Amino acid sequence: MHVPPIPSLTAADPELATLIESEATRQHDKLRMIASENYVSAAVLEASGTVLTNKYSEGYPGRRYYEGQQFIDPIETLAVTRARELFGVDHANVQPYSGSPANLAVYLAFLSPGDTVLGMALPMGGHLTHGWSVSATGKWFNPVRYGVSAETGRIDLDEVRDLARREHPKLIFCGGTAVPRTIDFAGFAEIAREVGAVLVADIAHIAGLVAGGAHPSPVGHADVITTTTHKTLRGPRGAMIMTTAEHASAVDKAVFPGLQGGPHNHTTAGIAVALREAGTEDFRRYAHQVVANAKALAAALVERGFTLSSGGTDNHLILADLTSKGIAGKPAAQALDRAGIELNYNTVPYDPRKPFDPSGIRLGTAALATRGLTEEQMPQVAAWMDEAVTAAVKDDEATLDRVAGEVRDLLVCYPMPGYTAD
Ligand SMILES: *Cc1c(COP(=O)(O)O)cnc(C)c1O
Repeated sequence: MHVPPIPSLTAADPELATLIESEATRQHDKLRMIASENYVSAAVLEASGTVLTNKYSEGYPGRRYYEGQQFIDPIETLAVTRARELFGVDHANVQPYSGSPANLAVYLAFLSPGDTVLGMALPMGGHLTHGWSVSATGKWFNPVRYGVSAETGRIDLDEVRDLARREHPKLIFCGGTAVPRTIDFAGFAEIAREVGAVLVADIAHIAGLVAGGAHPSPVGHADVITTTTHKTLRGPRGAMIMTTAEHASAVDKAVFPGLQGGPHNHTTAGIAVALREAGTEDFRRYAHQVVANAKALAAALVERGFTLSSGGTDNHLILADLTSKGIAGKPAAQALDRAGIELNYNTVPYDPRKPFDPSGIRLGTAALATRGLTEEQMPQVAAWMDEAVTAAVKDDEATLDRVAGEVRDLLVCYPMPGYTAD
């Protein structure tokens, strides 16, 4: 049963309520390993589902365009203060609707249409909004892209420096969606300084690890830090932009009125709760457990003959090329889902296959660690993955269903916030 319970919804709209209950059960019964997903706490869920959704508050605390901000102002101020304290930044804007709009606000703050942006190529692990061609950021600006080295699977800062010197970008993005290794923020900062570019660290994937001390912080290196709040940071769907004092006003103006209207106050409250949680000793332990799990899982997968991009991981994320297993990413991901292991198909660097049918899979351990799984369970997870991939090659559906049952049996012992077996 969903927690908090949804009796009014069940009465008013049983069709929708049933779908939500089914989703809660699905989230409980699966090893959720989509690297960008997590389980928020019951407290975050409660904050996100409140009457705050009723309120309009265009502007910023103390400078609003609507009346009635007596309680909204302190809520947003709490979120901002907690973000500043947690990450140690001068300024935080908690209003972006999600990670993509947050990045677009950064373009609006610093660039004019046609200006050059240097970002990681999407198929190499970057994000659409770092200047990929199908994104507005690639259509309206002049994107230049770096990748990873074919030999090491890691970012080659010499390549980044050469590109930056040649192309003179106004903005440089570091961070990505499929980067299993530590980002060298200091190295990027040196390059940005040399060419006079604004450095943006997009820590959407690793924000929780940074907050918990399990990944180096970009603070002091990047001029601007963007992040989603719903990945390793374990908050509601939303985003933040953090800056030095120098860039605060440009970024605030870009978010509102540049790009957005009223902030989503129920989300702001959920972000405030998540930021408070992320400042605790418990969360520190969590962040380190996420990384320990990923390293243990990566080692177990390598032992079972999986080929990992860059050979392993430093963070929560693993990128595997399944070519050696005789299967492509998409059919493998579908089979794994049937086996109770949820992840996504993904391009691997230098992938000879098409983006919609690539060679790899991407997985992460953020949600598993929230459930309480540790290194101890990772060899079993790798064994199930191996079994499922092998079964997929042979169209052996019975094995997939058996693994799904074994996964369910394991997860009964690891409660999930947002659900209780009734
Ligand atoms: C997830 C992600 C985003 C976009 O976030 P959305 O909330 O999906 O718009 C941006 N950048 C990076 C690096 C991400 O991983």
